Amino acid sequence: MPERTESESRKLLRRLRDVLAVPGKGQDRLDAITHLIADSMGTEVCSIYLFRDEDTLELCATEGLKKAAVHQTRMKLGEGLVGRVARTGQPVNTANAPAEKGFRYMPETGEEIFSSFLGVPIQRVGEKLGVLVVQSRTGRLFSEDEVYAVEVVAMVLAEMTELGAFTGDDGAMRALHKQPAMFRGATGQEGAAEGRVWLHEPRVVVTNPVADDPLTEIDRIRGAVGELRVSIEDLLEAEELDKEQKQVLEAYRMFAQSRGWLRRMEEDIMRGLSAEAAVEKEQSAARARMEQVPDAYLRERLQDLDDLSNRLLRILTGQGADTGAQMPDNPVLVARNIGPAELLDYGRKLKGVVLEEGSVGSHAAIVARALAIPLVIHAARITGEALNGDHILVDGDQGIVHLRPEETVARAFRDKIAMQAEAQKRYASLRGLPAQAKCGTTIHLHMNAGLMADLPSLEGSGAEGVGLFRTELQFLIRNKMPQRAELAALYARVMDAAGGRRVAFRTLDIGSDKVLPYMKPNDEPNPAMGWRALRVGLDKPGVLRMQVQALIRAANGRPLTIMFPFVTEHGEFAEARGHVLREIHREKSLGHRVPERLEIGAMCETPSLAFAPQAFFELTDFVSIGGNDLKQFFFAADRENERVRRRYDTLNLSFLAFLEQIVARCAVSDTPLSFCGEDAGRPIEALALAALGIGTLSMRPASVGPVKALIRRVDLTEARAVIDRARAEGAESARPALMDWLAAQPE
Ligand code: PEP
Ligand code: MG
Repeated sequence: MPERTESESRKLLRRLRDVLAVPGKGQDRLDAITHLIADSMGTEVCSIYLFRDEDTLELCATEGLKKAAVHQTRMKLGEGLVGRVARTGQPVNTANAPAEKGFRYMPETGEEIFSSFLGVPIQRVGEKLGVLVVQSRTGRLFSEDEVYAVEVVAMVLAEMTELGAFTGDDGAMRALHKQPAMFRGATGQEGAAEGRVWLHEPRVVVTNPVADDPLTEIDRIRGAVGELRVSIEDLLEAEELDKEQKQVLEAYRMFAQSRGWLRRMEEDIMRGLSAEAAVEKEQSAARARMEQVPDAYLRERLQDLDDLSNRLLRILTGQGADTGAQMPDNPVLVARNIGPAELLDYGRKLKGVVLEEGSVGSHAAIVARALAIPLVIHAARITGEALNGDHILVDGDQGIVHLRPEETVARAFRDKIAMQAEAQKRYASLRGLPAQAKCGTTIHLHMNAGLMADLPSLEGSGAEGVGLFRTELQFLIRNKMPQRAELAALYARVMDAAGGRRVAFRTLDIGSDKVLPYMKPNDEPNPAMGWRALRVGLDKPGVLRMQVQALIRAANGRPLTIMFPFVTEHGEFAEARGHVLREIHREKSLGHRVPERLEIGAMCETPSLAFAPQAFFELTDFVSIGGNDLKQFFFAADRENERVRRRYDTLNLSFLAFLEQIVARCAVSDTPLSFCGEDAGRPIEALALAALGIGTLSMRPASVGPVKALIRRVDLTEARAVIDRARAEGAESARPALMDWLAAQPE
């Protein structure tokens, strides 16, 4: 690269920095910058377009176009060449702009006389801020070096924007991270929370995008990359890496060793950027590419590069995850993603959790659910917008997040929370009363749990017992297989806390979405229908037996209830039950006390079990319908897939007919039947299940009150008649008929 260009771009950056150093209004600075760039580049035009909202760009400053167009000319994302640059995050360089596909002529700017056009995105690590454009009359392509120089300038503009250099009341630019913002995600866990943002990984703030002495910066970047390489080597040498972890680290090593990566950053530095800004420039480019790449594998690799850049930035700036910031009161955790153990570390301190990624069945979601913390997932781009301490409202019911909300929004939100609290008070007054319907039938309400921390809810909710204790959480949150003694101690504490009330311990339900960090992952094409739950337990009975031993020892003579997940056929259940009986025998012979009463039941989570031979219903002590799984297999609609997961109504009359068959099968053998999927905690669904004859429902503790209140208001035989009538009338779902009927019921 010619030395002249290098020093030109450095000179340009230095002039830019001088402009920015002078205190002034945001608009004056933008104007000065466009003038400066046009002058330095020898172009007739330089313009800055900035985002006004998520998909509108506005001409905010120009040298060379008509001044009257400033703050008037706007375009949508993707519209015209400027919109194209903004959408793709890639530069557009053309000698004949009017001939380009998508060119939009804007008469108010007098643009038509300019043939050559170079637009580069103004973006900061994936956060799109605007577009910087230079144009000239002579039809020529801008040289590679010129493109590079404009990109570097755009990078500095982005950094300075982040630092608030262009904000003001003079129409210049909205203050970043100050405006209200709303994010539409998806529900991970219902509930509402108001609090202050706590970023799991705070953003690294770069305050020195331009540097004077490139050699010092090059030393710094080489030193930091060296440190990074050593840290990756150390990680790679650590023991207990599984294949996948190793692959990720090897990809990291490849990037960290990549000569191209370091060379590009060094070139950026030679053009006047600081080491930090050079890392961010590369990171931004990787993020922009990430959005364009359809190939999942390549996207993941770009994601690796992104993570690596973050590490490098932390090394350079010394800003670790622990910035010394104080966690605010009522913290709401905001993160790209978070592991279950990390989330548990925060524990109940958190009022809410908002993730950019995550899924309904992710471990973090399971933990959030167990902790009853409202969780919104898929809140795209929120980590780029939120700052520690920002006011935030989390609406877990709707999957919506309000960041820095207007007061009117906050007020409406508080009204909603107050109404919910009011209702909770009403439910609390029902705590000691049975869920007895008007017809005299009493429904038994139990709660679902998975952590020791859930047990106090047993008292508070008025649940009669724990209808589903998901034991896998204890396995998921550790980084190695828990020991029998550890588990026995934990199960004993659970039983102690339950104070004699029944706790149905479900044996390990792993596989599908729940992958243990210390187990070899199976690359299964369809894990929900793969090697999971009891299938693993039977094929590798060591863990199942260890868990059963821990349960027997924990019970220490007390009654014990064991439930197997994902039983698909009679033989599987009989085999699993055989393991338990053998362990009882073994424990007894070792001198341990055995349970005074033992119940061994099965979860019905696959349609096939509903058609199992009569012998199964006679052998099992109870059946508990795992509606989450049963429904996904009944409708062939993945419970994890946002596109289809709400497509079929639980009150669909075909599904209800199927549940009725299970009720009938259990009735023949007098087998107790319960339902422990999420639907049991939704009042209308719970009412329908009770009306079909399912006498025990197990749900989140917070649902016990609402479900009880509704059941006490109604006559279940009437509700049943409503369902039958809806079916006779050929309805698809019983919901509309039940809702109409309910509306006519006295409060
Ligand atoms: C179910 O499938 O309904 C169930 C209760 O189990 P899980 O949600 O843990 O799969
Ligand atoms: Mg299940």
